[in-house]
Amino acid sequence: MNPDRYAVLGNPIAHSWSPRIHAAFAAQTGESISYVAQQVDSEQFEAVVADFFATQGRGLNITLPYKQRAYALASQAAPAAQQAGAANTLYLDANQQLCCDNTDGRGLVRDLVDNHGVSLRDQSVLLLGAGGAARSVLGALLSEQPARLHIANRTAQRALELRRLFPGADVLSAGGLVQLDAEEPFAIIINATSAGLTSSLPDLSNSLLAPQGVCYDMVYGAEATAFQRWGAGAGAILAADGLGMLVEQAAEAFRIWRGVRPQTRPVIESLRRSL
Ligand code: NAP
Repeated sequence: MNPDRYAVLGNPIAHSWSPRIHAAFAAQTGESISYVAQQVDSEQFEAVVADFFATQGRGLNITLPYKQRAYALASQAAPAAQQAGAANTLYLDANQQLCCDNTDGRGLVRDLVDNHGVSLRDQSVLLLGAGGAARSVLGALLSEQPARLHIANRTAQRALELRRLFPGADVLSAGGLVQLDAEEPFAIIINATSAGLTSSLPDLSNSLLAPQGVCYDMVYGAEATAFQRWGAGAGAILAADGLGMLVEQAAEAFRIWRGVRPQTRPVIESLRRSL
């Protein structure tokens, strides 16, 4: 019997680790799947998704720049996708309805809590950035019941817009990077900006990080990221990158599709060795 078909769609896509991650999950769990990366042109996206599921494809991951369009295409959206206004996982339910989810937030929280032993409960948390990644993780961060969660973004207006998506969340506040108050330090600082990849880090005061604080960068690479280096310099007891989040969000998609949760630690370790 042919393996069940899965794919990740994006543009560009050549850099994607997802085929390797899902191949490792399949080998580990004994699930019979194929998983490929496919670059899709903007005008083709909806047609490619429709054709994939019409030809017995079982599940798609969606990456930049199509996560919002994937969400718009689905007839059923899980709460995390609704909060994010974007989806990274598509599948058909028993009635052949196209369903979507967003596993980034659960991936981040699992990496922080399970892999790094960092509890968010009753902690003061600073989230840097207000783009798609920040929006995708906000709901999951709030579910961990921090004492305070502040969104700070270069463009303050975008942070305030994110804040308005969670009107009932009393612990949530938002503002610009320049208004950050170093007199109330944060126990956990999460970088969800793309700074450090394409440009230099925003200017952050070391006193923003509480003693014994934790820094987490959603970005990852062979070397410590600029934000990890900043965290180490500011005295963080842990300054982690986002490789674990990448693997954890994939594991959550695999669980949605196959009903089996793979072990992530060996896959994270294997990817780390190849960076
Ligand atoms: P995005 O929607 O383009 O948002 C970019 C964010 O970065 C915005 O808040 C932007 O601020 C801010 N920014 C960019 N350059 C900056 C600078 N020089 N100084 C201060 N702020 C700056 O991107 P995204 O989709 O949210 O992705 C953000 C990062 O998360 C990317 O590097 C992505 O690779 C990473 N990510 C990792 C994972 C994982 O699994 N590890 C998952 C998702 C995303 P303005 O609003 O002011 O422009």
